[in-house]
Amino acid sequence: MPDAAVAARSSEATNSGTTQQVDVAVVGAGFAGLYLLHRLRKAGFTTVVLEEAGDVGGTWYWNRYPGARCDIQTMDYSYTFDPELDREWTWSEKYATQPEILRYFGFVADRYDLRRDIRFNTRVKAANWDDTSERWQLTTDNGADVSCRYYIMATGCLSTPKPPEIDGVKDFKGEVYFTGRWPHDGVNLAGKRVAVIGTGSSGIQSIPLIAEQAAHLTVFQRTASFALPAHNGPSPDDRKTYFEADRAAYREQARWSLAGVPYPQEMAVSWQLSDAERRERFEKAWAAGDLVHILTQLWADQAADFDGNALIGKLIHEKIRAVVKDPETAAALSPHDHPFGSKRPCLDTNYYATYNRPNVTLVNLRQEPIKAITASGIVTDKRSVDLDVIVFATGFDAMTGAIMAVHPITGRAGKSLSSVWAQGPQTYLGLTVAGFPNLFMITGPGSPSVLSNMAVSIEQHVDWVVDRLAALRDAGFTTMEATETAQAGWAQHMADCSMLTLHRMANTWYTGANVPGKAQTLMPYNSGVGPYRGICNEVVSRGMLGFRLTGPNVAEQCNDGEVVRLQPDVRLVLGMLAEMNLPAIESMGAQGARDFLTEFNKGRPAGRPVGEVGSGALQGADGPLPYRLYRPATPGPHPIVVYFHGGGWVLGDEQSDDPFCRDICRRSGMIVVSVGYRHAPEHRFPAAAEDGYAATRWIAEHAADLGGRPGPVLVAGWSAGGNIAAVTCQLARDRGGPQIAGQLLVCPVTDSTFDRPSYVDNATGYFVTRSLMFWFWDIYCSPADRTDPRVSPLRGNLANLPPAFVATCEFDPLRDEGIAYAEALAAVGAPVEQLQARGHFHSSLMMVDVVITGVSARARMAEALRSFAGLPRKLEQIDQDTSPIAVNAAAG
Ligand code: FAD
Ligand code: NAP
Repeated sequence: MPDAAVAARSSEATNSGTTQQVDVAVVGAGFAGLYLLHRLRKAGFTTVVLEEAGDVGGTWYWNRYPGARCDIQTMDYSYTFDPELDREWTWSEKYATQPEILRYFGFVADRYDLRRDIRFNTRVKAANWDDTSERWQLTTDNGADVSCRYYIMATGCLSTPKPPEIDGVKDFKGEVYFTGRWPHDGVNLAGKRVAVIGTGSSGIQSIPLIAEQAAHLTVFQRTASFALPAHNGPSPDDRKTYFEADRAAYREQARWSLAGVPYPQEMAVSWQLSDAERRERFEKAWAAGDLVHILTQLWADQAADFDGNALIGKLIHEKIRAVVKDPETAAALSPHDHPFGSKRPCLDTNYYATYNRPNVTLVNLRQEPIKAITASGIVTDKRSVDLDVIVFATGFDAMTGAIMAVHPITGRAGKSLSSVWAQGPQTYLGLTVAGFPNLFMITGPGSPSVLSNMAVSIEQHVDWVVDRLAALRDAGFTTMEATETAQAGWAQHMADCSMLTLHRMANTWYTGANVPGKAQTLMPYNSGVGPYRGICNEVVSRGMLGFRLTGPNVAEQCNDGEVVRLQPDVRLVLGMLAEMNLPAIESMGAQGARDFLTEFNKGRPAGRPVGEVGSGALQGADGPLPYRLYRPATPGPHPIVVYFHGGGWVLGDEQSDDPFCRDICRRSGMIVVSVGYRHAPEHRFPAAAEDGYAATRWIAEHAADLGGRPGPVLVAGWSAGGNIAAVTCQLARDRGGPQIAGQLLVCPVTDSTFDRPSYVDNATGYFVTRSLMFWFWDIYCSPADRTDPRVSPLRGNLANLPPAFVATCEFDPLRDEGIAYAEALAAVGAPVEQLQARGHFHSSLMMVDVVITGVSARARMAEALRSFAGLPRKLEQIDQDTSPIAVNAAAG
């Protein structure tokens, strides 16, 4: 529909000047606003959509720059709510152009007759909640204001272009354009001297086409982006076949996936693959021309781990060098300051090759920052470039820009959203804000939004909101508001999630770093649309957890609380375990349980390489015991950590905690000797304890033979192994040695009392259950022996023990006895460091490369071991805390 016709219609609707009364006001007529209108109408709500633009389309209305296309395959970047609509529209290309996508929105608007409830050319300027009428009052810049019960901001994550931020723009006598506000009639660049400032997705899409038209193009690059060839054309056969085989199943898979496009979870970690295998995977991804593929399908550690990630960066640098002829330009185009994927990678068509053109110059702003824009062009520290046109491809005040541009948004008690968000956005689920009843944001900060296929995220949000409004109405409620507890819980969950991936390590619009003065925090939810959908559903199934609902004729309902208290990866692991519906371990019998554990461990990521892994036999209390030795790659001799595996004195062996042993070896720079002590029921109490002590003595005596540092050893253990380590320290003190420099106790068993709160609160649901612990105790130790300090070290003499580091996990039956042991040690003056791992369960810290949020705990354990051994706490190595990239990001 032409803009003029739309404008005439919109003014007709609003000329009355009186306040327009509706149930719901939606701001924005993009992907989200259109679907909202359709659903709200169907649910029976009177609705108006207010849109600043002259027609529908949102992003695709405004971004008309040369080369503008989607970068999620269009087959996936479409509405899915109506299978008929899905069938009626066929995309012409793998990545459709902006005009085609805009036509699609026009088609959707026509099909559902949406425009009649949209007021175009109408900007919402301010919004005010009135407690008495329980309605929002919206002020507009065109026609009647609006009074509504529910106010939904579908204002877009990337709809407010950033101001230029460079001195002198107003002095420039030539033409100035913003990619995000490109003129509808197009721009003639032929024969002109053009500058593009910015090399994000918009710059990278437009630069090749601008270069073809302009007499000369100068690109001003501050940060080089990673760009991947789009290989545009028809939809690729493999994806299309997959889609067509069962469209409904495909869409459903997308809804529960990580990024909103159905791809399997990659399991192989980078260090399991040879160079050739990694290259093969990379080449396949490069040829696929698909961001979601390259971001998720290379290796499992690519998004979470610096080393795994850096491999990709190097391979892409090679690709850039292969295309760009001038080595200096190639080097400048190769990103070195952020991990791949931490900043949105781009899809390109001939981007790198464009720099081989004689009419294109790259200016590296890292070496010569822009000093000013003058009447005739741009001046840097090193040169002056005369120009006819400047194109700003400088991006957006993302995620919060359009929301904050409605100012003020005043909630309860006159509180303004800008003051509530002064330190960064605070939301519950990215959908609502405490103190702002009946206000909803579609794909707001705190939701997966821009880290996903937005089509999937938008539909999920719209469905959730409209379903809630309908349910509220049916139950007689008129307001819905997030509680402060729920919101604070979500902030904590977001902070926990942010530790999972490397996004926090780059200065990007994801974190707000692109806008001077903006509070910085990772704004999108990075743990996937599927998990997020599950959480939203859980909020509902748990009685609108975290929301206060009120209505004139119904009792207030407030089911306060935090929806996620587990670490995000722990939640996933426990969810997967629950789905496996495994029989209780205690029902398997000892041998059955051992076989099960062996099988189960085969599915975990292989531990990382260490200098050397060896095995041998040592002398236990009653004969030889096997051991496994992990040696660092660094020159020795190293201090030795004697390690005792977990398994309730019944299960496991010297190899069963292999990834943890490797991790501790790498992080501490010490030899780890994992001991295969004897197990019950074949060898009941005190066999394991006596073996632990004997093995420690033997290892201390043979330290030099093992290549270790002679002198005191350290002991460590997890669960029942932590019990053995603690007991060993007491026995070594009482039996005249060996000397032990320190003890690392991870979720240790320390006492035979089962009524502490953690045994009750975490009795079931966290893998290690109360009944499993009972089974272990029964097999290992008769009731008469259970107060013996060799199995209940908390009941022993705690004086003069080596310094200790005690780690406990919040959702573990053993939590409180671990804490009690640490406190008891501290009470007798032993140096003791405690780590109470929030949101973790008994196995969390052992699940190396699965529970990523356990990394910082293991880093602290290694530091503690080093300090016990008299070494500097920090080992010089690249890890998540010390990488040069992290340092740069922090400094930047
Ligand atoms: P928008 O499309 O941004 O619509 C919001 C609307 O709200 C705008 O029309 C705006 O004018 C209006 N508005 C805002 N404030 C007010 C106000 N105060 N008063 C009145 N009206 C207001 N995502 C993908 O998943 N895949 C892609 O391939 C992809 N490509 C993109 C390409 C570009 C160039 C850009 C900029 C973004 C891209 N995105 C992509 C993200 C894209 O923004 C979303 O996919 C999606 O279009 C957002 O839809 P929306 O309705 O939420 O917001
Ligand atoms: P962007 O990714 O934020 O890129 C902006 C670019 O401008 C960056 O290179 C930035 O450098 C530079 N810049 C900003 N301010 C500058 C200044 N004052 N001086 C010099 N350089 C400056 O913005 P975008 O390219 O518009 O893309 C935004 C997002 O929209 C994308 O990430 C993507 O999600 C979406 N998008 C998608 C497509 C698609 O392919 N479908 C196309 C366009 C946009 P720094 O990095 O140093 O800040």
